[in-house]
Amino acid sequence: MTPPFISNICIIGAGPGGSSASIQLSNQGIDHLMVDKAAFPRDKICGDACSGKVVDALNTLGINHYQNIPTLDSWGVTFIAPNGNALRVPFKPDMDKADKAPGFISKRIDFDNMLLQNAIAQKQCTFKEKIDLRAFEYVDGRWKCFDKNGDLLVDAQYLIIADGAQSMFARHIAGIKQEPKHFAAGIRAYYKNVTGLEKDNFIELHFLKEFIPGYFWVFPLPNGQANVGIGLRSDLVKSRKIDLKKKLFELIDQHPVLKERFKDAELVDNVKGFGLPFGSKKRKLTGENYLLVGDAGSLIDPFTGEGIGNAMISGIEAAKAMAFKLSDATYSLEAYETNVYRKLWKELQLSTKLQSLANQKWLFNWLINKATTNTTLSTTISNMFMDLDIRDQLKRPSFYFKLLFN
Ligand SMILES: Cc1cc2nc3c(=O)[nH]c(=O)nc-3n(C[C@H](O)[C@H](O)[C@H](O)COP(=O)(O)OP(=O)(O)OC[C@H]3O[C@@H](n4cnc5c(N)ncnc54)[C@H](O)[C@@H]3O)c2cc1C
Repeated sequence: MTPPFISNICIIGAGPGGSSASIQLSNQGIDHLMVDKAAFPRDKICGDACSGKVVDALNTLGINHYQNIPTLDSWGVTFIAPNGNALRVPFKPDMDKADKAPGFISKRIDFDNMLLQNAIAQKQCTFKEKIDLRAFEYVDGRWKCFDKNGDLLVDAQYLIIADGAQSMFARHIAGIKQEPKHFAAGIRAYYKNVTGLEKDNFIELHFLKEFIPGYFWVFPLPNGQANVGIGLRSDLVKSRKIDLKKKLFELIDQHPVLKERFKDAELVDNVKGFGLPFGSKKRKLTGENYLLVGDAGSLIDPFTGEGIGNAMISGIEAAKAMAFKLSDATYSLEAYETNVYRKLWKELQLSTKLQSLANQKWLFNWLINKATTNTTLSTTISNMFMDLDIRDQLKRPSFYFKLLFN
């Protein structure tokens, strides 16, 4: 039997959360091991949309996202209300093409590999792929990590857990349950020849009356194809007895607007599904010498389904907490949880409220109708992407009352 990899710190999972933690540790001069069960480049089922938060996190890590990978700049989002009315909202109200685009779209097979290559280019990172860790024991202050045959593969003092939505560690050691009200199922398909893609690569969120509060998305890709999918909270998938794959094809074949746009479209890959653990509830993100990052810590935005940025932010915070711990043994790793929620909780709470607003068909229709004719409202919604306090207005009754008379 080969001896286990021994390290002070081991990051489990090399997605955006794990790779960001690794780069931040290296930036602080800290040696570490990172393992992943996959061989890279690997696919990740996703909408492939990277918001301004991802751009900010890349800047923090000192990475230019335009390096070597196909990306498509995105300047905004189009919301389609249940009654079919559309509202185009630029990510910045005064869109100036001289600036860098606020967001971008990049296939995860490219984006995640780019991040990983940045991580392993640093001498502080030792990366091992095809290491699938399934069981964990804490013995004498060290984590022993085993594969499915019970073979010991990793022995580390500290673990950064970044193994995604199906994290074995989160479920079995940290005790984070999959709660259907705080979890969604999503499926993704790559299509070519979809017509009517939005100008300036706006991403499209269709809140269809038969599918709210979930949505159907169409995101343009750098190669002219489109990432198309649907996502819905797991309790609703169950209570409405929806087969998501069938539903996707049904919408594409039968919805009056979509069927026209998909008339000549061709599926270019198998339709695949994966889970989204929502951050609509606070979780315990720390324990005996470990920290949970990204999807392993259930940090996905419950309204938009966005999780790449939050995974990266939590990865960076995890690395910073580790650095403090190594320089001061009395430092409590619990500060990590406080710091992550200090950065993300306000937004996660708002998005939880917006998710329930999206379930009210009439309110959604009314808001979009109003915004298409009211520039104050459309500018407010546009500002929402940059400013949380403005987003906060949406959950106040006074906001709607004022609009009635505007
Ligand atoms: C259908 C769908 C659409 C989405 N669309 C978007 C979107 O458009 N924009 C957005 O921002 N977010 C989106 N998300 C969410 C986003 O994909 C996740 O939030 C993000 O990938 C989280 O990053 P992570 O690093 O925590 O986990 P992951 O990206 O899942 O990475 C986890 C890594 O851990 C590895 N791993 C897993 N198990 C083990 C193990 N046992 N041992 C070792 N390694 C292991 C995996 O191979 C993987 O590389 C979407 C999610 C879904 C399901």
